[in-house]
Amino acid sequence: MAQQIVEKEILEILEKNRQKCAVCQKCSLGKSRTKSVFSGGIPNHKLMLIGEAPGYWEDQKGEPFVGKAGILLDKIFASVGLSRQNDVYICNTLKCRPPDNRNPLPEEKAACREYLDVQVGLLKPKIILLCGNIAVQSFLEGSRGITRVRGQWFDGPYGSKMMPIFHPSYLLRNDTREKGGPKWLMWQDIQEIKRVYDSLS
Ligand code: SF4
Repeated sequence: MAQQIVEKEILEILEKNRQKCAVCQKCSLGKSRTKSVFSGGIPNHKLMLIGEAPGYWEDQKGEPFVGKAGILLDKIFASVGLSRQNDVYICNTLKCRPPDNRNPLPEEKAACREYLDVQVGLLKPKIILLCGNIAVQSFLEGSRGITRVRGQWFDGPYGSKMMPIFHPSYLLRNDTREKGGPKWLMWQDIQEIKRVYDSLS
């Protein structure tokens, strides 16, 4: 069960935006994508994760965080009793895959921002997780790299608490379990996220 019921009107507007996104041509990525990736998980007012942009498998399936990175993300949530099926709304900064997984261009991020703003503005989640550098840069202007800001709480839109976290793809590339390593830090961060999650009504 989602932690809070989302009003029917909100679900309808999200669905309309999903459909709009599926045929969107506001930037050149609309021509090269297979499927746009609007969201995954469950709409709720408590916890949202914002990632970067679809990769190969996301583009094929139209779902965010599939493949190895998605499996690891699910494991991270499961380690504190959360799941995308029941607790987390997942979306990306950019809804279509940049060719060869290159970083999104500023004009692509600007063109796609309206969808993200609709998602955040409708759900007004109490906690927003910024997963990876692209998501961090979209909300924390002039921010330092993810390794400098991860694990810290920032004031987010609509009174939310916002925390940058490592992207699971980064954790897969840096597989050490040593104390102080990326995986160890992620473990600290997810426990802090759960602590705050549980403290919210
Ligand atoms: S990336 Fe965003 S703005 Fe560009 S075509 Fe896809 S949905 Fe539209």
